Amino acid sequence: MKIRIPAVVTILAISSTLSTGQTAKPPQPILIKAGRLIDVRGGRILDRQAIVIQGDRIKEVGPAGEIEPRASGARVIDLSGSTVLPGMIDCHTHILLQGDITAEDYDEQLLKESIAFRAIRATVAVRMGLMNGFTAMRDLETEGAMYADVDVKRAINLGYIDGPRLFVSTRALSATGMYPLLGYSWELRMPEGVQIVDGADNIRKVVREQVKYGADWIKYYSDRRYYVKDGALHSWVNFTDEEARAIVEEAHRLGHKVAAHAIGRDGIEAALRAGVDSIEHGDGMDEELMDVMVKRGVYWCPTIFVGAYVAEGRAAAGAPIWKTMVDLEAKAFSKGVKKGVKIAFGTDAGGFAWTENEAQEFAFMVRYGMEPMKAIQSATINAATLLDAANDIGTIEPGRYADIIAVDGNPLDNITLLEHVKFVMKGGKVIKQY
Ligand SMILES: [Zn+2]
Repeated sequence: MKIRIPAVVTILAISSTLSTGQTAKPPQPILIKAGRLIDVRGGRILDRQAIVIQGDRIKEVGPAGEIEPRASGARVIDLSGSTVLPGMIDCHTHILLQGDITAEDYDEQLLKESIAFRAIRATVAVRMGLMNGFTAMRDLETEGAMYADVDVKRAINLGYIDGPRLFVSTRALSATGMYPLLGYSWELRMPEGVQIVDGADNIRKVVREQVKYGADWIKYYSDRRYYVKDGALHSWVNFTDEEARAIVEEAHRLGHKVAAHAIGRDGIEAALRAGVDSIEHGDGMDEELMDVMVKRGVYWCPTIFVGAYVAEGRAAAGAPIWKTMVDLEAKAFSKGVKKGVKIAFGTDAGGFAWTENEAQEFAFMVRYGMEPMKAIQSATINAATLLDAANDIGTIEPGRYADIIAVDGNPLDNITLLEHVKFVMKGGKVIKQY
């Protein structure tokens, strides 16, 4: 068993050294020898590169022949037989959910598990995500677990547990009667999977409240009740235009971005009218909506794997539409790639069990027509841009956090290699090694 010293203890130790008048020695630099390195900004793969890390950030990157002689005295990590790339970013997760194929799965978690218990399970989920090579995640709502995502993020940032850098959205918003738990006796006060709110003024207050308690992003549910008519996937829209605009306006006014769950074309159209920053799922996206996405630079986070994963179970539970949606999303995704819609990698992990590796999303993206390099960019530099964090994460460049992973072989030849990440470093700390 390794003994972990929380970062907060380390900080205290350093500051006590400083107070006795001694100078703290800078940490020993690390030199990573990279056999191949994926330059996600240039969209190319480079041979025999080297990375120098000082503390938690990258100091230098370049050809091994130039960098290595300058880095004497560094601790060497030899990845010369591997492909090295930036830590991956999953833009759509639910760390406080443990799979919800059916409504019963979902209700059981909200009814039988306390928020404390769910937060303990979330600490396991974030560790699994990190070990799979995801060094950052945008967690898109706690599904009834209030602000527990803010607590998990804090525990990670203070070094008590290992986990990705989290961008959290706390409780998400939907309107009365439009989100589980539903179908129980009116005599019972049931827990809500989101923050239920109606009316523009109340919405503004709730957005302020979520930001006050630590939301980085605001998430809302634009639609529900999906159905196919004339070949298009439609849906019922949850908020009035005035309400949806209030969500976006207030979030933007406070310097935060907005993600909208929108599956049917009606829900997507309404979310685009409101001015959201990312469309989640988007199965019913058509060419007209794609043109608006491209024009306004809105990101699409398609979450393909989860749709395929839950389809059989939901069809068996009486909702065959989920199987149709798998085909519709395949077509929409191919079209979106051709049209140049900005795509951010997102999986909805938590919507499926955390024991499934969320990197399975990549194989679907490639099968549906995306080039492997573009798929990797969607989970690195593009995701970081959506998160307004491109100066910190998403590339292996000087000044960025040393969030670095490695795989055997070349993922550009076989994208499923990303399901077998062998080395993970986050902020200069080795989390997983060969
Ligand atoms: Zn989700």
